[in-house]
Amino acid sequence: MLYGYDKVDILHGPTPLEKLENVSRDLGVNIYIKRDDITPLAAGGNKLRKLEYLVRDALNKGATMLITEGGAQTNHGRLTAAAAAKFSLKSAIITQDKYPGEISANLLLDGMMGCPVYFTRDLAKGRDALIKKYSAAGEKVYYILMGGSNEIGMLGYVECAHEIEKQAKGTDLKDAPVYVTIGSMGTYMGLLIGFRDSGSKRRLKGVSVLPYGTAGKEADSLRRALADYYKRICAFYGAEVREPDPKVFDIDTAHIYGGYNKPSDTVRRAIYYLAGREGIILDPCYTGKTFCALLDDIRTGAVPKGSNVIFIHTGGLPGIYTGHHRTEFEKELMPYMRSGEV
Ligand SMILES: *Cc1c(COP(=O)(O)O)cnc(C)c1O
Repeated sequence: MLYGYDKVDILHGPTPLEKLENVSRDLGVNIYIKRDDITPLAAGGNKLRKLEYLVRDALNKGATMLITEGGAQTNHGRLTAAAAAKFSLKSAIITQDKYPGEISANLLLDGMMGCPVYFTRDLAKGRDALIKKYSAAGEKVYYILMGGSNEIGMLGYVECAHEIEKQAKGTDLKDAPVYVTIGSMGTYMGLLIGFRDSGSKRRLKGVSVLPYGTAGKEADSLRRALADYYKRICAFYGAEVREPDPKVFDIDTAHIYGGYNKPSDTVRRAIYYLAGREGIILDPCYTGKTFCALLDDIRTGAVPKGSNVIFIHTGGLPGIYTGHHRTEFEKELMPYMRSGEV
């Protein structure tokens, strides 16, 4: 129970927090990885922590169906479909993206789990129409906004922060900074609140993977968006609304690499590096970028040699199978293919 909210159990206990032995040796920094990518359902990922709280709330309210929104390749949509299946709810996804011309990656998994994906030109209108359509058919719809990043969804990462504190207790990781990806902000915000609740002094570095606001002003815009979200949370839980000092948001907007879900050779190199050294696969949309930010901070000394750091792997594996990423991978990986007699 967190702030009066209960959850369903999807994760079955803490995710591993393990040392990247080879990479740590390579770089002279002790890098630990929090494996939120290997959570149980449908290829895993951070959204399952939020969904533990969101599904409980949906069931409490008598919902028979979850509908959510996002990009065509939304990881959150895929995991909403998975959680819905597990708890015998219907599901649907609505997206403002165009049909990408192929049923690959997350779309493929959505379909397998019986979750239709609706493509619309106007998300607000499409959302209303979809809720109406299913309500008329007798469903009680629980609508989840982008990324599950609302006041309830973020509780999953408040809990994750407590979990990390427990795992770090009595180890060298007591004050180690944490690197995590920022998309729709719920993961970062939950961690921020959870670490603060725990009385932790550790730094929380949020690496943005999409441009908020106008070019050149991404950091200011993101800080404002985080402050607004934080205020909504305070109001929701009846805490005294305090204007958060924008400085509490330790964010990085220098690793967006051209925009949301854009292929980047720098990011692909980081993916190959971790894959080849540790057998752990990052994704090209989110975690690959955050790992690049960590590598850069090690290079510049912002994360000093000999220190300890925690990298949260938030999942996203299916993203490597989308056409626009896969073709880039295929071009580069062709030299590894052998045909004929060996
Ligand atoms: C959604 C997502 C994130 C970002 O989490 P938010 O709570 O939306 O900020 C990071 N990594 C992956 C793989 C995701 O799917």
